[in-house]
Amino acid sequence: MKFTTRLLHEAFAPDAATGATTQPIFQSSAFYQPTAEDMAKIFAGRKPGFVYTRVGNPTIAGFERRINALEGGVGAVACASGMAAVSQAVLNVLSQGSEILASGGLYGGTSSLFRDFAEYGITVRYAAGDRVEDFAAALTERTRLIYVETIGNPKLDVVDIAALAELAHAHDVPLFVDNTVTTPYLCQPLKLGADVVIHSTSKALNGNGNSIGGIVVAGGKFRYDPALFPKFREYQFGPMSYIVRLRQRMVTDYGGCMAPFNAYLTGIGLDTLALRLDRINANALALARLCAEKGFDVNYPGLEASPYHAIAKKQFGNRYGAMLTLRLGTKERAFQFINSLHYALNVSNIGDARTLVLHPASTIFVHASAEEKTNGGVTEDLVRINVGIEDTDDLLEDFSTALDALA
Ligand code: PLP
Repeated sequence: MKFTTRLLHEAFAPDAATGATTQPIFQSSAFYQPTAEDMAKIFAGRKPGFVYTRVGNPTIAGFERRINALEGGVGAVACASGMAAVSQAVLNVLSQGSEILASGGLYGGTSSLFRDFAEYGITVRYAAGDRVEDFAAALTERTRLIYVETIGNPKLDVVDIAALAELAHAHDVPLFVDNTVTTPYLCQPLKLGADVVIHSTSKALNGNGNSIGGIVVAGGKFRYDPALFPKFREYQFGPMSYIVRLRQRMVTDYGGCMAPFNAYLTGIGLDTLALRLDRINANALALARLCAEKGFDVNYPGLEASPYHAIAKKQFGNRYGAMLTLRLGTKERAFQFINSLHYALNVSNIGDARTLVLHPASTIFVHASAEEKTNGGVTEDLVRINVGIEDTDDLLEDFSTALDALA
């Protein structure tokens, strides 16, 4: 079975009770059980069933099964947002004194979150470069997980996931990969050896920009030794340890669950993932080539000039995603460019059907430290473009006009 057939059929069947061909929306906070014994068994995990939507809900569970199947995991837990997924996923593992080893080009919200963890005795250390040796050099005895994005937002850096997984496992730490920008259509990090995959489902998985959400998928192979990960003392359930703890102790206790209606909307968007991304990848490459031909400083992993072209080609099957960036010399020129685009909307989101454009330094990185901006490749003259599914010719014409106006 190929990707879209799997996506549509592998973990989806018409609703058993009604025959409905989309996942029904169970917009209910709680679920009745006929006897106190039934309720007790479900709470004890000895009987399947639903009790309260913060813990589990049939609409959300349907969405979790589909993403889990696409990523090849042992289980998935949907969350209120991508940031709820990031925070709950990493706090499921870390304790006071733990260190995160991260790639430099992290999304600004994630680097800001990791900075905040210092208040709780959890610190972050950034690898000085993107090579595995850079990560190896930054490992310490306190490192408890390695955290990277498949394509950094907006740095567009790409790490070698398989090599990094080997390094992580040789040091008894798991590798967490944020797969938001690539989605399982371009990359399935668990198959490359990663242990946990995180998504902001608000982006390309949804594809229409109509609901915020996140999801965490576990690979199930990494063993969380309680000597290094004390939170797992009571959670030794083999491959299910991580995901069971995430649901029971993080999402249930911290409360960052997905809303059923958002699971429903995102599930609808998911159906067309590959169709949308094929068009988006082609559009993004055409726009990147146009910018390069016109002599602008453009960054896109699909261009041979990108230092990440070879690894991206290998890892993402010759597809490079929706995001490209331009350096336009000054902040004023960046603003002028954004304001003169006709179809690209000035929006702080990515992964929409419409092309979106943003000035990262004054928006998503506005509260970042100078070091975080440097690590993230964010300069005052940088413009981030997230390409949509518009007709290629219209996008090329729009960009051409806006670029010519800068010349
Ligand atoms: N991870 C990445 C790579 C992102 O781009 C974003 C948002 O832009 C997030 C996580 C956070 O997701 P959300 O906005 O759904 O909280």
